[in-house]
Formats: sequence, C-alpha cells, structure tokens
Amino acid sequence: MISIKSEREIELLAHAGHIVYLTHCYLKPYIKAGITTKQLNELAEDFIRSKGATPSFLNYEGFPAAICTSINEEVVHGIPSNRKLKNGDIISIDIGACYKGYHGDSAWTYAVGNVSKNIEYLMEHTEKSLFIGLAEIKPGNRIGDIGAAIEEYANKHKLGVIKELVGHGVGTNVHEEPDVPNYGKRGTGPILKEGMVIAVEPMLTLGSPEICILDDNWTIETDDYSASAHYEHTVVVTKNGYRILTGGAYNEEK
Ligand code: MG
Ligand code: MG
Repeated sequence: MISIKSEREIELLAHAGHIVYLTHCYLKPYIKAGITTKQLNELAEDFIRSKGATPSFLNYEGFPAAICTSINEEVVHGIPSNRKLKNGDIISIDIGACYKGYHGDSAWTYAVGNVSKNIEYLMEHTEKSLFIGLAEIKPGNRIGDIGAAIEEYANKHKLGVIKELVGHGVGTNVHEEPDVPNYGKRGTGPILKEGMVIAVEPMLTLGSPEICILDDNWTIETDDYSASAHYEHTVVVTKNGYRILTGGAYNEEK
C-alpha cells in the first residue's frame, strides 16, 4: 500500500531530509584526494547524530556503515573503507537520516579534483535527468511518467539506464512502496497523489547498464567497469507539483 502522509508527518520527513541535505553540505569540502571513505563515513555519522538523528543505512539489512560510498564504476552500496580518494575519481555518496522515526534519503555524485570531459558529461546529464524526472511529479500523473522522462533523457544523451535499481517511497521506513523505476511507459504505474513521499534516483552509466555485485555482497558495480553517477532527492507530492525535502531551499515548492 502506498501511504499518504499527514501534514505532521511531512514536516518530520522535511526535517529528516534537511539533515540529509546539511550532511551533504558538511561533507563536500572534505571530498578531496587523500581522504579515505571511512573518514567520510565517520564525519557523516557524527554530523547526523549531532543533529539529533540516526543514520538510516547503518545496520539496514546488515549494512555495516552510516553512508554508502561508491567510487567510479561502483554504482551504489559501496562500503566505506581505507581506500583513499584519488584525483580524477568520482564518488557517489548516499546518505539517509532518521529523525523521530521518519527518514530522508539523498545521493549525490562528487568529482575528486579534476575529472575527464566524459565524466563531467556523465555527471551533468545524470543530475539533469533527476530534475527531468521530478518535473513529471504532480497529482494525477503516474509513476511511469517519471521513469519514461528519465529514460528518454538518458537515451538522448547515450547514457545507460540501470534497470535493476529503482527509487522508492519514503516514510517511517527508508524504503517503502511504490518502486520508482528510472525507465517506463507514460500513463502507467500508480497514480501520484498529494501527500505521497518518494525518492527519485537515476543511476546512469557511460557504458553498458549491466551491473554485478562484488564479493562483499553489497557493492554494486558496472559489468564493463564504465563510470556510473547517481543523484537522488526525496520529495513530497504537493497540490500542484512537488517539494524537495532533501534540497537546499527548505520549503521550496515546484
Ligand atoms: Mg539513497
Ligand atoms: Mg533511495
């Protein structure tokens, strides 16, 4: 069942989402060559706790860290480790925070120092694809409209769309119904209604969209080792559109 959140719940989700946004802002200046992903994880966990929240992903189905750190060909669910970031890497950082029982979820891909033109292209158009998908959100539209818009945009820019990993509802669980795929057909899927809260999260690749899972049973990477980017916002469906709960402008409605 897809739940409709009350005004009170939406404010708690907005508070959790804002903590996620602030955590991204806090980490950003540390994302430089030489830092380890474990150090980033510790910084993020301390920051989230300092805001009266807990990291949503820590121990989630056994995940061993507060945030996911996925480098280059790694798509999602990278486990923070002693690996040091290098100039030219990209790192996708996925952050979840739980505040008074409600979650926020947002991922962003960051460049480490100078990256190649190809990588810049991947990052620019994956980020744009997120906003192209979000632009479909208003009551009466369908989940399939979001995925179709993202897929059309990715195809136009010759980027691979990962199909096995999808966005989701967000509430008292970090992953709720419905699934929000980054592909699909317009006019299909559940109807969007005011008060639904969903995370939209395109994961695009420079090469093949095929993926595999590493021996750690968490890290997912591209089969052909091509780079992958990931941008995610949690949003609430409003009367006329949507409001980003994990973005900078705290109450901005689109
Ligand atoms: Mg996420
Ligand atoms: Mg998510």
